[in-house]
Amino acid sequence: MTSPLVLIIEDNPKNRKLFRDVLHFNGYRTLEADCAETGLALVREHRPALVLMDIQLPNMDGREAMTILKADPSTSAIPIIATTSLAMKGDRETLLQSGFDAYLAKPINIKELPGVIAQYIGSQSQHT
Ligand code: MN
Repeated sequence: MTSPLVLIIEDNPKNRKLFRDVLHFNGYRTLEADCAETGLALVREHRPALVLMDIQLPNMDGREAMTILKADPSTSAIPIIATTSLAMKGDRETLLQSGFDAYLAKPINIKELPGVIAQYIGSQSQHT
């Protein structure tokens, strides 16, 4: 069985690398986009098991991209985890209410990330 594919939509190269490294270490395959428009195209082409979505992106932001994916019956079931450093009070609740499946604050806790992803698509490294 091939390992699940996770799409990283993130415009910061350092954050993209961190997500990529943590995901690969935990047995996931990854795709990357540095803007929402490319991310949407990759979702439609590759049907990832999960999307990590930055909120602050050039042009279209992560909320708008999430709304488009959740409104499309062919992509609405794909879990989308918001990632943002805009960790203002109430931000988490606002993001979850707007339709994201989960929320991770940046800087990312690399010990927490695999567990959060595994809640949605299963763990790849801890077979019992
Ligand atoms: Mn960003």
